[in-house]
Amino acid sequence: MTEHLLKILIVGDGNVGKSSFVNRYVSGQFNRTYKMTVGVDFAVKLLNWSDEEKVRLQLWDIAGQERFISMTRIYYKGAVGCIVMFDISSSSSFLSCRHWKQDLDHKAMLPNGDSIPCILLANKCDLTERAVSADTIDRFSRANGFFTWMEASVKENKNIGEAMRRLVQEILSV
Ligand code: GDP
Repeated sequence: MTEHLLKILIVGDGNVGKSSFVNRYVSGQFNRTYKMTVGVDFAVKLLNWSDEEKVRLQLWDIAGQERFISMTRIYYKGAVGCIVMFDISSSSSFLSCRHWKQDLDHKAMLPNGDSIPCILLANKCDLTERAVSADTIDRFSRANGFFTWMEASVKENKNIGEAMRRLVQEILSV
């Protein structure tokens, strides 16, 4: 039995749903309970990935520090994958994804110097007022080196486990 320890970052502007995502994924709940602290914190989830492999996920959320935009290198150290999240009803949170991705590409690298795999997540797809079209997201995702993008709703539990599975799959394949 092999156990992989994977440090995964969840970045994006404030209020896009990062804490809710981690909470939903780890505890299955929507109302946030797992932490209210300001500062970097992480949650852990263990997956039975295959008959021979277990995956221990460390999910790092940047609780309350979004205003600093550029995170310290300690936060990025050892990360092997990332979710860049925005709120589909907020064009400013979408525009910020470029900065989040650039910051990652400068500070979070695999030992061979490559960028870490990143998935772009358009959260709150349960909302009807959309500020960004699928076509725009698709073009942005390709132009900025995301391996894929998905719509998700933490509220309705849509594509949460699926997004994490796609990311883990990508991490284990590089
Ligand atoms: P963070 O600042 O990025 O960690 O965002 P939070 O997890 O604190 O969420 C910000 C707000 O968005 C909260 O009021 C959440 O209940 C709400 N929220 C999170 N995910 C969703 C979603 O998928 N749909 C809707 N409608 N609201 C959401």
